[in-house]
Amino acid sequence: MFKNYIAGEWVEAEGTENINPSDTSDVVGVYSRATRENVLDAISAAKAAFASWSRSGPLQRHSVLRKAADEIMARKDELGSLLAREEGKTLPEAIGEVVRASQIFDFFAGESLRLSGEIIPSVRPGIGVEITREPVGVIGIITPWNFPIAIPAWKIAPAICYGNAIVFKPADLVPASSWAIVDILQRAGLPAGVLNLVMGKGSVVGQAILESPDVAAVTFTGSTQTGKHVAAASIEHNRRFQLEMGGKNPMVVLDDANLSIAVEAATNSAFFSTGQRCTASSRLIVTEGIHDRFVEAMTQRLSSLVVDNALKPGTHIGPVVDESQLQQDLDYIEVGQKEGARLHFGGRRLERETNGFYLEPALFTEASNDMRIAREEIFGPVAAVIRVKDYEEALAVSNDTPYGLSAGIATQSLKFATHFKQNAEAGMVMVNLPTAGVDFHVPFGGRKRSSYGPREQGRYAAEFFTTVKTSYSLA
Ligand code: NAD
Repeated sequence: MFKNYIAGEWVEAEGTENINPSDTSDVVGVYSRATRENVLDAISAAKAAFASWSRSGPLQRHSVLRKAADEIMARKDELGSLLAREEGKTLPEAIGEVVRASQIFDFFAGESLRLSGEIIPSVRPGIGVEITREPVGVIGIITPWNFPIAIPAWKIAPAICYGNAIVFKPADLVPASSWAIVDILQRAGLPAGVLNLVMGKGSVVGQAILESPDVAAVTFTGSTQTGKHVAAASIEHNRRFQLEMGGKNPMVVLDDANLSIAVEAATNSAFFSTGQRCTASSRLIVTEGIHDRFVEAMTQRLSSLVVDNALKPGTHIGPVVDESQLQQDLDYIEVGQKEGARLHFGGRRLERETNGFYLEPALFTEASNDMRIAREEIFGPVAAVIRVKDYEEALAVSNDTPYGLSAGIATQSLKFATHFKQNAEAGMVMVNLPTAGVDFHVPFGGRKRSSYGPREQGRYAAEFFTTVKTSYSLA
């Protein structure tokens, strides 16, 4: 039984099985589900630990983050295999995500040695002004299932770097990777109470975090619906909050695009990681002149993809994460057909040697941007091609969405690429690249319904994980 970690102790609670979506007979482990009392204990422990941790020196924080980065990297194959088993992304994708987690800890280890402020002359003679950054307090971290190690890493590492204490609630479906990083961090020398792990259900564990007046800030990644709830509960406590939510990301393909670059970018954006990325593209907006060639080339590329057990060498697309997500994907495939889009490729449930949640990648053509499959986040390997006349229409369709996380364009025209970068209503823009796939040292986040609050990652993370103080003194 894998236990919760509260006030520096491993604490047992009733457990639940973590099941491998590639092979439902494989139980990854039994993980404790925290009770409301466990969460309250975790919050008290974090509050107590914050008093000294917030005053800890940069060297202590650097040492913990550095050691964690090193251990994660040294164990990348083992942790990658654990991640692939619990979430279902392919082993190379999972190992890549573990490497990313290590790089994030490494980056914030460096940042902890670069904490700085400003000294500014006052407008009043004889007075000095100092601007400093201080830790915020107890931070609630609530994460989704689709990046079981990278998203916890990009919230936990800056929280530690800037001197905060943490109550961390991973997604109920994927506790193993989170348990592993908490275990690594406590062995790396993090004092008791600074990082508390409370696994379990959103309605119990997440809710208890949101209801506590002692939680000074909540950083959340997940669905737009839960995000709205986090926002409302946080406003009640005048608490700082940050939300990273859904996407319906466009990938524009113009007549002058390099066809193979466009097809690779679209295939990666829409179908890799089983389409279960907030930055996945599910709207392929294609101009008339290249439309038929693009659809033909996509069909060939999709026919070459192997959908199978995430751990099997040669698998390109692993299973969907669980039965209910698979059902949601199949429902949307039916909705798309009823709305009049043409299911051009795939979309069937597949049987494999091991019993899992396998879905053939689905490509719709003849879709329009007002259909539900083009407006609502499906979160699976399902994409729709929307035919448009020219760049102007492509840009308008691309921006016609409630979401604004990532937007891509495939073109060889500097004029259109530049115009798109300036006019796409998204937090991240990709030219001749997949909509997913970002660096760890630069800001990450979106606009409109996709995000709320400051950006995550890179130096911009300081905006959320610190609070600014302005001090005046008479010289
Ligand atoms: P979800 O909203 O169902 O759950 C996210 C987290 O919130 C989980 O830990 C869950 O247990 C918790 N939660 C649920 N109800 C809660 C409540 N009442 N109070 C507090 N916490 C609660 O999302 P999911 O299904 O795990 O993840 C998929 C979603 O995440 C997709 O919409 C995807 O786009 C989004 N996502 C966004 C980003 C981004 O950076 N924008 C990145 C990854 C995933």
